[in-house]
Amino acid sequence: MSSPAPIGTTPGGLAPYAVSDAVSRGRQHDEPPPRLRSDFQRDRDRIIHSAAFRRLEYKTQVFVNHEGDLFRTRLTHSIEVAQIARSIARALHLNEDLTEAIALAHDLGHTPFGHAGQDALNACMKEYGGFEHNLQSLRVVEELEERYADFRGLNLTFETREGILKHCSAKKASELGELGERFLSGRQPSLEAQLTNLADEIAYNSHDVDDGLRAGLIDVDQLSEIELFRTQYEEVRRLHPDLAPRRTVHEVVRRLINCQVVDLVETSLRNIASARPADLEAVRASSSPLIGFSEDMRTRNLELKRFLRTRLYRHYRVHRMSAKAGRVIRDLFQAFFEDPGLMPDEARAHVEALRARDGECGQARAVSDYVAGMTDRYAIREHGRVYNPGELT
Ligand code: MG
Repeated sequence: MSSPAPIGTTPGGLAPYAVSDAVSRGRQHDEPPPRLRSDFQRDRDRIIHSAAFRRLEYKTQVFVNHEGDLFRTRLTHSIEVAQIARSIARALHLNEDLTEAIALAHDLGHTPFGHAGQDALNACMKEYGGFEHNLQSLRVVEELEERYADFRGLNLTFETREGILKHCSAKKASELGELGERFLSGRQPSLEAQLTNLADEIAYNSHDVDDGLRAGLIDVDQLSEIELFRTQYEEVRRLHPDLAPRRTVHEVVRRLINCQVVDLVETSLRNIASARPADLEAVRASSSPLIGFSEDMRTRNLELKRFLRTRLYRHYRVHRMSAKAGRVIRDLFQAFFEDPGLMPDEARAHVEALRARDGECGQARAVSDYVAGMTDRYAIREHGRVYNPGELT
């Protein structure tokens, strides 16, 4: 699928309203430009080489790691988002490298155990400014990664960081300076940021259908109540009546992703054609996002989301795991906050540094950084080492 190049498209294939190195607002700390790569390729490469990125392999969203090897992890999810985002970016003549960087970084700040972990940590941090995974992703790339001699964090471009911060409360936005501005003034992020956000939705809705079916928590009959699924399922059954059930599901999921991507590209092209943004500044100034689904697809999407919420995310087996996960996170936070001496040297040094700067709030923030950075299995092991007298420390 490709669309005709808009007028003003550069020889490199970028539309005049795309983000490019030339219009980037640059990095937090000045650095010489890369010699062989674009600025956004450099961002992507730094993300891939970070410790937080490697840890995504052992963090999960719905199913905890030990439930099976075939389920998505945050790493495979992030790669799927990057694939979908790049396809959309290419079709719209937008900056693929930037969308890839945003996609690979968008979940770096997630706690272990998916949303159950985030909710538990947010509750622990209630008195100390709360915990929000989006802001934590930003914190990881701006502060917590320690890999470079000249600065803390990864020193990514403004545009990559803008894409990572998908949403933000007004209170937090006012503390964030230029990155928070758009949440206060109602301006839009780049089209690359807008599309990566929706690529994330396409990816998780589709793969949660796939993983939910594989886990046996939902079945094809239930899913057939949902128009988006039923349309694709009936088409596959009509074309391939003898296909094995598992392969039928894969074919349906593939088509689910494809029909959403096609709808998104076509609708966004229409939006762009009618708004006619001359450049990136015009994109930012537009009153609503230009990347989006058609009304019809949005409705069908919502129906699928609602289904997944009630039938999958609230399934008692998922809920049991979430309840256990919440307990692990609360216990760890409490133990470390009350006695940072229980923490490994490096993490304790981080607590001492933040406590010296921000008092009790700093101490809580440093403990939440440590807990949020854990993988599922590391959190389970730490819980045993801290609470179980029979376990080695
Ligand atoms: Mg995601």
